[in-house]
Amino acid sequence: MSRIGRREPIEAVLLRRTPDGSVTDDTADYEAIVYDLDGTLVDLVVSWDEVAADAVEFFADAGVDASGHDLWEMLDLADERGLREELEAVVAGHERDGATVSELLALAEDVADHSVPVGVCSLNSEAAVRAALDAHSLSEHVDAVVGRDTVATRKPDPEPLLATLRELGVEPERALFVGDSRRDELTAERAGVDFRYVDGGPSGH
Ligand SMILES: [Mg+2]
Repeated sequence: MSRIGRREPIEAVLLRRTPDGSVTDDTADYEAIVYDLDGTLVDLVVSWDEVAADAVEFFADAGVDASGHDLWEMLDLADERGLREELEAVVAGHERDGATVSELLALAEDVADHSVPVGVCSLNSEAAVRAALDAHSLSEHVDAVVGRDTVATRKPDPEPLLATLRELGVEPERALFVGDSRRDELTAERAGVDFRYVDGGPSGH
């Protein structure tokens, strides 16, 4: 039975397993590995277009025209208008459901096998991240979780990644961040953390 989601076969970029079961770890020089969640460890089963449409409707009800904004811009807009908590409630339901039925991606197999601390730094809410990790029995292998509502700023601001590393007790220059988007790459650059794409290049997420 495969635990691997629809991207199979993806070449895991970190730990390489040979048919005899041995594992080669070319990340052995790092003292911590931090992963993005969606598109990296799992695919959340969420229609982001549907979430964005609900969010536009929410803003319209509040007398704000949010059309043309993407969801992440709408979070900024909600901050500006003092509507963040209400908007989070709109997004959270979709996200939590999508986390529970999320599909595990190949790279997630590495999470249990790292010899160093592992963190997850995500644009999803912390509750959704924890729900996804729980759904795939990964929580026990993850030592720090930072979601978009864990600290005051969001990726590509470096602070969420730096906060993850502080919790792990590892300096930025000793860590590796693995993600699937240009936003992740930019976050790592700004935090002074080495970066690798999960699948060789940005997914466009
Ligand atoms: Mg992602």
